Amino acid sequence: MKNHRIWLMLGVFVALSVATAYAGVVYRLSCSNRTCNFMQDVDFGPGFSFQRLIGYCVHCEEFVGFSYRHYEKPPEPMGYVWDTFRSEKRPLYACPNCGKPFLKIGGLGSIKICPKCGEGSIRRPVLRSYD
Ligand SMILES: [Zn+2]
Ligand SMILES: [Zn+2]
Repeated sequence: MKNHRIWLMLGVFVALSVATAYAGVVYRLSCSNRTCNFMQDVDFGPGFSFQRLIGYCVHCEEFVGFSYRHYEKPPEPMGYVWDTFRSEKRPLYACPNCGKPFLKIGGLGSIKICPKCGEGSIRRPVLRSYD
C-alpha cells in the first residue's frame, strides 16, 4: 500500500513537470463591447501528444484550427501571402468549417483587439490548463 502511494506521488510529479514543458491552455476570449458580444473558448495547445494550429476565420467569425500529432506533418497551407509588416511570406490555411483562408496566429499575445469588432475590448482569462 505504501509503495502504491509513492508511485502515485511520482506520477503526480511527472505530470507536473510535463505541464511546464507543454502546458496546453484554453482561454476564454470575450469582448465587452455590447454590440459585439464575441465569446469563444479557444484551445491554443499544445498538448502532450499534439500541436494546435489556430487562426481567426473572418468568414465564420470564430477561431478555427487543426490539431495534429507531434510526429505528423502540419497541415498543408492552401497558399501564401507576402506580409509587408513582417517582411516575410506567411502561409494561409483553409478553414475547416468554410474552406476560406485564415492566417495562423502565434499565440495569445498577438490577440490585442477583438477580431470581430476591432475594438480593444477583448478579455482573455485562462479557462483551464491541461497536460
Ligand atoms: Zn471559416
Ligand atoms: Zn468585439
